Amino acid sequence: AAKARGRDRCVPFSRALLDAAHERAELAADLRQAVAAGELHVAYQPLVDLARGGTVGFEALVRWQHPQRGNVPPAVFVPLAEESETILQLGEFVLDSALAAAARFRTTAGTSPEVSVNLSGHQLQQPGIEDLVARALRRHDVDPARLCLEVTESAAVADLSAARDTLQGLRSLGVRTALDDFGTGYSSLSYLRRLPVDILKIDKSFLDDLADERGGAGGGHGVAVLAGIASLAGALGLLTVAEGIETDRVRELVARAGCTWGQGYHFARPLSEDAAHEHLRQNVRWRSTTA
Ligand code: C2E
Ligand code: MG
Ligand code: MG
Ligand code: MG
Repeated sequence: AAKARGRDRCVPFSRALLDAAHERAELAADLRQAVAAGELHVAYQPLVDLARGGTVGFEALVRWQHPQRGNVPPAVFVPLAEESETILQLGEFVLDSALAAAARFRTTAGTSPEVSVNLSGHQLQQPGIEDLVARALRRHDVDPARLCLEVTESAAVADLSAARDTLQGLRSLGVRTALDDFGTGYSSLSYLRRLPVDILKIDKSFLDDLADERGGAGGGHGVAVLAGIASLAGALGLLTVAEGIETDRVRELVARAGCTWGQGYHFARPLSEDAAHEHLRQNVRWRSTTA
């Protein structure tokens, strides 16, 4: 903006900008202490089988209860953590918590739901990340096949060949991999083909298009696009997860488009671990009667 106003005009240093920068630095410093201070915890959002109903897994989502500011959203503090080594500490905390929970979910459910953990771009490039994951799996005695690691398109594309190697290494442990937020970034079909992933997570923005359509029973072009993505993913041997299902109408359209799993407030919000156990008790019982 300063440049746009011309080089010889002095732009007053904005108080708001100063506060914002100061605030970010302060928040970043607080975040460095947050893991050790026990201010982070993990919430679990159900993943639902769209054809049969019933919960098949959970996505682990980090939460920060700041002592003064209260709940800070991950959209604010995860990018902040990404700017420093803090993200590696945060990532390890979430992985460890999620695998501990996975072992307990197994006891509750009598079967093992999948637990899906987000990997940041930094973690994807962290030397020895495969060993770190392998050790955490052993520590909690969790079957690698029950863990899924999600990476975003933009993180993967930032260094495609490194991402391929890491994802391949993780897969050779028996862990599944997912491409997160598909549809918000490059969404290139050629990346899909070149990245060793098992699951495609279709971003909520695609579903918002469905909800916006007043196309009556057919659902309009949005459904056709979604069906195209699901069928392409199927042809590549990928399972699809539709993110951000908020209504029964969208659930129905997404299921009709052929997506495999769904996630969204329509089914459940991200839950505390205790609430996730309760959810599992109810939904697994239901699933076993339909299976
Ligand atoms: P994401 O990985 O795409 O996670 C899905 C986000 O969509 C979550 O937001 C979830 O609460 C939200 N969501 C789920 N269903 C609905 C719905 O029906 N409607 C709406 N409006 N939203 C829905 P959350 O928990 O705020 O996390 C935001 C992002 O922060 C995540 O997006 C992910 O990119 C990042 N994040 C969260 N936890 C972690 C973590 O442990 N590690 C890393 N690296 N990133 C994380
Ligand atoms: Mg995710
Ligand atoms: Mg996502
Ligand atoms: Mg998303």
